[in-house]
Amino acid sequence: MNVLVINAGSSSLKFQLLDTTTRKVYAKGNCERIGIDGSFIGYNVNDGDKQKLEVALPDHKTAVKHVFDILAEAGFDTDKIEGIGHRVVQGGWYFPESKVVTDETLGWVREVAPLAPLHNYAEADVIEICREMFPSIGNVIVADSSFHYNIPEKAWRYALPRDVVDKLHIRKYGAHGTSHRYIWRSTKAFLGDDVHKLVSCHLGSGASLSAIEDGHELDTTMGLTPLDGLIMGTRCGTIDPATVCYLVREGGYTIDEVDTMMNKQSGLLALSGVSSDSRDIEEGANKGDANCQMAMDMFYYRTSQLVAEMAQSMHGFDTMAFSAGIGENSVTMRMGVAKELEWLGVKLDPEKNKVRSDEPRVISADDSKIKVLVVPTNEELMIALDVEALLSK
Ligand code: AMP
Repeated sequence: MNVLVINAGSSSLKFQLLDTTTRKVYAKGNCERIGIDGSFIGYNVNDGDKQKLEVALPDHKTAVKHVFDILAEAGFDTDKIEGIGHRVVQGGWYFPESKVVTDETLGWVREVAPLAPLHNYAEADVIEICREMFPSIGNVIVADSSFHYNIPEKAWRYALPRDVVDKLHIRKYGAHGTSHRYIWRSTKAFLGDDVHKLVSCHLGSGASLSAIEDGHELDTTMGLTPLDGLIMGTRCGTIDPATVCYLVREGGYTIDEVDTMMNKQSGLLALSGVSSDSRDIEEGANKGDANCQMAMDMFYYRTSQLVAEMAQSMHGFDTMAFSAGIGENSVTMRMGVAKELEWLGVKLDPEKNKVRSDEPRVISADDSKIKVLVVPTNEELMIALDVEALLSK
């Protein structure tokens, strides 16, 4: 089935048109700086060269119209598109699984939007314009939080007063669920009956872990929002929650300033003082920059601590999978995390760790107690497969 996958961020809109049977990607791109001066669309079609279209993108709906123009110009008439998948960050309590778009389900995306205002409202607008422009194409909502919805209550409940959490729907929702679901699926296809308890490590500019036992998740590291858990590119991850009160009370920061600080100015960027990109930080550390080295040491320390936490929630683990930008590409960061976990039976083979491939591969030593893999993630394919499953019913 030919599926268009759309993923709206606060000021961006990524798209990919792919065939779920052949897995061929016909077109993909990103509309950037939506609502900001200097907006453009970077894209490529049929594995061709990357193209750049400089065009005013005042809002997400305009961006969608341009995406359809680009596809039409490249020869993909809309009658060839058989379904549209929409990545929604926050599905709240309404999306324990993916659902076909109706007036009701679209209303739910907006209802839970206060939990992820920058993303949900944008994708809801995108869904609206897709339905308006092409009423005959089916749309499906794939929420990033779905995979985490059925973790045990002892894992999702926060120890805050019940009336408050009930009224405001506060709980662990998690994120990256579509990626963790794909990583499980791909690991299972690769290892068969050899995998039961997997710690899935999505380590990109956003980063989270997931404890998956025989396909069911038992815990994850992100919380009410994606700020919780690991140290990320620009997010601080878990810190004492009282820090927020202290910053407001003693530091004189507004709540919005603290929000921006913790989400956009912290993490590897703040620790290194150089960049949020692990490549720059590795380079800095190689040149002897102590702050870059500390950023990396803290990344290994926190990631390994939380891997052990995920393993604890499953009372053990047999497999660990590295994925996303850092997990798939950084030989050094993988080794750094693995070394911290040696006491738990994790041992990488340095040569296998250096191998580059787009396919799942084992990088642990033959005598490692825990099998360690690199598993390239593919959220777009996972979304498209959900679209196919729901629309062909
Ligand atoms: P993602 O959010 O999954 O796209 O991951 C983006 C992050 O992955 C970047 O900020 C880099 O820190 C990291 N990354 C991407 N490519 C490489 C690479 N070749 N080596 C090391 N880190 C990489």
